[in-house]
Amino acid sequence: MADVEFIKSQLTAHPDFPKKGIVFLDIFPILRNPIAFETLITHFIHHITSHTIAAAPSKKIDVVVGLDARGFLLGPIIALRLGAAFVPVRKQGKLPGQCVSASYEKEYGTDSFEMQADAIKPGQTVIVVDDLIATGGSATAAGELIAKQGGKTLEYLFIIELMFLKGGSKLDAPVYSIVQSD
Ligand code: IMP
Repeated sequence: MADVEFIKSQLTAHPDFPKKGIVFLDIFPILRNPIAFETLITHFIHHITSHTIAAAPSKKIDVVVGLDARGFLLGPIIALRLGAAFVPVRKQGKLPGQCVSASYEKEYGTDSFEMQADAIKPGQTVIVVDDLIATGGSATAAGELIAKQGGKTLEYLFIIELMFLKGGSKLDAPVYSIVQSD
């Protein structure tokens, strides 16, 4: 797993960001290094084609959903390589036209995610992509939006999973993460 170690080596940790007590893990150094970015995308594509698609009854992925905001940097590239559609999930009030919405718990109060109402057709197979899963609140809301449109989520993919928060246990499909952090 030399590629995992290489990807891990590019991550930087920022103590007390965005506020005291939080250690923020930054993925942007990966994107600044074209070899690391290519390694990351190739790792995801290898996993998706050899595991996710191989296990899917339809043997294909129709839609890649990316979460606001760093999921937008990964999702479209993965979608293009798979020949799938890309669909963004955005914070409330950003998307035009009719939308479906789902609220999720934040540290203080709730927030809402939205997806355009015609973005996913009933029966389509979907994967969800973001940089990091913490409590799993945002991924859970994305899963609800996919289910509301009749989509079938096959997997949630992240660069980093904060294991101690057990966010993956809430989700309606398996989690795949490249780096697991305690
Ligand atoms: P959750 O909803 O609690 O799972 O939080 C995940 C969301 O918060 C994702 O959209 C992440 O981009 C963001 N997030 C939380 N902590 C970090 C971090 O340490 N680095 C980067 N993003 C983070």
